[in-house]
Amino acid sequence: MSALDSLYQELILDHSKRPIGKGALDASESAITASHHEFNPSCGDEIDLSIAVDPASGEIEALAWEGQGCSISMASASILSQLVRDERLTIEGAHERIAAFREMIQARGETEPDEELLGDAVALQGVSKFVMRVKCAMLGWVALEADLKQVAAERA
Ligand code: ZN
Repeated sequence: MSALDSLYQELILDHSKRPIGKGALDASESAITASHHEFNPSCGDEIDLSIAVDPASGEIEALAWEGQGCSISMASASILSQLVRDERLTIEGAHERIAAFREMIQARGETEPDEELLGDAVALQGVSKFVMRVKCAMLGWVALEADLKQVAAERA
């Protein structure tokens, strides 16, 4: 195993042990909120992921989730939460990150992921070599995508 691989493994383990964003949603009164349940039957992972969006700026002001599953699914949701929080992503920005993450995960290790867009999520690149685990890694991201669609429909 390369030094980078073991660094990535440590990061994933760390996120699965001390997940970021797990808990109740702390939304302001004016925010548009959405919640989505996503289930991955091939592994048994599930998540309820909620967001609160500022209706004027389109910025995701809060994200929270509850879930259970394998360490990849939980670490991935945690890394996603950190990304949304640290980058103060808007709806558009979040869609861009989800697209980049999906591309990386479905590329079977054949593309160089954009670290500027994905941050720590590049640690999950190795997952793309295991077709069975792709849905685990995508779980939280698919849930966020569904939430964003709900919010966009309400904002329109
Ligand atoms: Zn899983």
